[in-house]
Order: sequence, then structure tokens, then C-alpha cells
Amino acid sequence: RAGELGDRLQVSVYAVGGFVRDIMLSRPAVEFDDVDLVVEGDGIAFARALAQELGGRVREHRTFMTALIIYHDENGEEQRLDVATARLEYYKYPAALPTVELSSIKMDLFRRDFTINAMALRLNKGQFGCLVDFFGGQSDIQRKTIRIIHALSFVEDPTRIIRAVRFEQRYGFHISTQGEKLIKNALSLNLVEKLSGARILHELNLIFREDEPETCLRRLNELGVLAAIHPSLVLNADKNELLDSLREVIDWYRLLYFKETPELSTLYLMALCSAVPAIETADILHRLGLTPTMREEILSLRESVRMTLVELINWHRDTQKKGQAEQSVSRLCALLAPLPLESTLYLMARSDNEEISSSVSQYIYKWRQIKVDINGDDLHRLGLEPGPQFGSVMRMVLAAKLDGKAETREAQLKLAEE
Ligand code: ATP
Repeated sequence: RAGELGDRLQVSVYAVGGFVRDIMLSRPAVEFDDVDLVVEGDGIAFARALAQELGGRVREHRTFMTALIIYHDENGEEQRLDVATARLEYYKYPAALPTVELSSIKMDLFRRDFTINAMALRLNKGQFGCLVDFFGGQSDIQRKTIRIIHALSFVEDPTRIIRAVRFEQRYGFHISTQGEKLIKNALSLNLVEKLSGARILHELNLIFREDEPETCLRRLNELGVLAAIHPSLVLNADKNELLDSLREVIDWYRLLYFKETPELSTLYLMALCSAVPAIETADILHRLGLTPTMREEILSLRESVRMTLVELINWHRDTQKKGQAEQSVSRLCALLAPLPLESTLYLMARSDNEEISSSVSQYIYKWRQIKVDINGDDLHRLGLEPGPQFGSVMRMVLAAKLDGKAETREAQLKLAEE
């Protein structure tokens, strides 16, 4: 429909960026809901007309001549389409490059990060599906290479260094030899140091959402990028091991299909700062642009994990002793219940005691879901007045249920009465 509309409005329309790359890579899960369009003409007018056809609305950004269309597809799901305007201009920056006149779409693609991200597919009817590939993206896909478009690319935007590693590791590609040299060069010019914390964190967050973030982090470490962000971010054997087990825990949790999803940024930042003293950790988090409240939150989560781990070791020792094992589940649940999901998962990844990890996993998938089978009305009928007493009776009944001592409603009523 975008192509047909382009024909009617007599403008060229292209799909660009990641969508085209993933088609060329024959990725099984090309995201059709994540398409970026470029229009050679008035992108905003085009976006308005397309939104009308799709029954959606438009958010316009006049300064950049871009627009976001938000509409609902046939399944009622919200979809977003980015529309950008490609204009004929002279390319004057970076200064060391000659001033060249580029056609609009070529200019748009020239500004992108890597050749594999700088391809476009024509959507107009007559040329539907024609590939526009000025910079050799297709051959770089064949050669499994991440290549920047011009030599000053990393100088222009050093976040591309982190992006290069993300795409390299995601697709099992390699950064071109010249690209690696230019990364080293950018690092020696301290360009990463000059980046704002928010921009670095944005790119790191994209890495944390990858299937295998630890491989990207290792590569960033090897290239010296982590050290350039903050010297205490550098990986060591312990951090590497923790990153591996954190990913295993996250993968395991995802397969449980619970509604609640953990904040990956919190988890990975805790792992990257593990064993780093609090003051230095606060400094790393400050470098990444976290507000004092966010910094405080991560530090206190880390502290609560540390304290809970100590208590879990005591709990584990006690459960081995005769006569104490029968309260083991309720005691474990009481220790873990105050922790947010991120801390519980992090704790599972950090514990090197298999029995403790396995008990924490049972808490996550089983025990924390368990509820009592009686309610406030039942307690009222038993003559109890609403107030703090209600809470303590309910907690006691839940503990008994968890420990297998009051599994039926009748048993729980009897216990509450007693
Ligand atoms: P993903 O599969 O991770 O969503 P994507 O390529 O769609 O990958 P985005 O971060 O959404 O990634 O970026 C969309 C497009 O915008 C990229 O394909 C690239 O062409 C361009 N782009 C994004 N960031 C930069 C940058 N820092 N410099 C140049 N071009 C960029």
C-alpha cells in the first residue's frame, strides 16, 4: 500500500535499514512490524496520507521531516511505521571528505552505520522489490562482514563501535580489518570517553536484549571498549562466569512464560559491576548517566542479594539438620518474598551452591505462586476482626500450606481457628 500511495503521489518510496538487511539475510523472523520507510519527496505529507489509508494517526517531527505512523493491523495489534524524508543535498561533513552531490536515497543510505544496514528496497509498483545497494551491503552479507561506509564513520558517531559489535556477534559476522583498525584509532583518540552516558547506555541496553549478550560484552572487552567506558567495567574470570550463568537463568525464566519480565538493564549492570566496590560502582553508573535514584536502587538491590545469599547459606545448613527441614519451604519463601524479580534471578545466577539455586528456582516457578485457600470472609466468620491480625493469620496459614501441613481448605480453616 505504501508503494501504491507513492505512485499516486508521484514520489519514490523505499523500505530501508534493518528490515531490508534481515530479508537479505533470510532471517526466519523478519519483523514486518518494524519497517522504516524513506520517501524521496515530502515524507510528512506521505505519512499523513498513508495513516489515513491505514486508519492510524501520525506523530510529526517537522525539524527532521520525519513522522511516525501508529495504526492497528487486522489483528488489532498496534503497529508503528517510521517515515523519513530523503532530500537532495550536498554532503559537506565530515570535513575530510570531498563535497559530493548524492541523489536523495543515496544520501540517506550514506548516513547510515554499516553497509549491511544501508540497503533499500523500492516499493513503488513498477520497481517493487528492486534492491538499492550503493555500498556493497549484499556482498558484505555474503562475506559476513560488518563494514562502515566511510573512514570517518566512528569519528562521526562512536556509538557505532558498540553497534558494530552487536551486529557482528548477532549474525556471527566479523568487523572488517579496516573497521577494527579504525575502532582502535577511535579509542586512542578517546572518542568513547567523550560520548554521553545516556548514549552508551542506550547501546548497551540493546546488547542486553540480544540472545547472547555475553558474547558482545566479551568482544567489547577484547577491543578495549569497556575499559574506555569505565576502567572498572573490564571483565575478569568471575564476571565472565557470572555473565554466562545470568544468561542461562534468563533463558530458563523466559521459558516459564510468566507475564512479569525482568529489567535486563538492572540484571546486566549488576553483573558488570559485580565485586566492584560500592563507590566505584556508583561511579560506573554515574558514567552511564543513571540518576542518583537509579544508582541507589541498583546498589541497594545488590546489597539485598548479598545479605539474602548469606541467609540462604544458613537456611541451607539448617535444612540439612534433623528436625528443621519441615519448615524449610516457608522459611525460604519468607527470605525471598521481599526481593524483586531481578534480585531473585540475579541471586540464582550468583549462587555457586547447586541446591540453593535449585531451591530458588522452585520458589520462582512454583512456591511464590501458591496462595491460601481461605479469605477474609472466612476469618471474619471465625470471629477475627480485620486488622494486623488478619495478615499474621494468613501468613501463618500460607507457611503451613507451603510446608505441606495444611494443604486443604478445611485444614487451613482449622489452623486459622486454632
Ligand atoms: P535491530 O534488528 O536491532 O532493530 P536495526 O537495524 O533495525 O536493528 P535500529 O537501531 O532500529 O536497528 O536502527 C535502524 C536503522 O537506522 C539501522 O539499520 C541503521 O541504518 C540506522 N542507524 C541506527 N543507528 C545509527 C547510527 N548510530 N548511525 C548511523 N545509522 C544508524
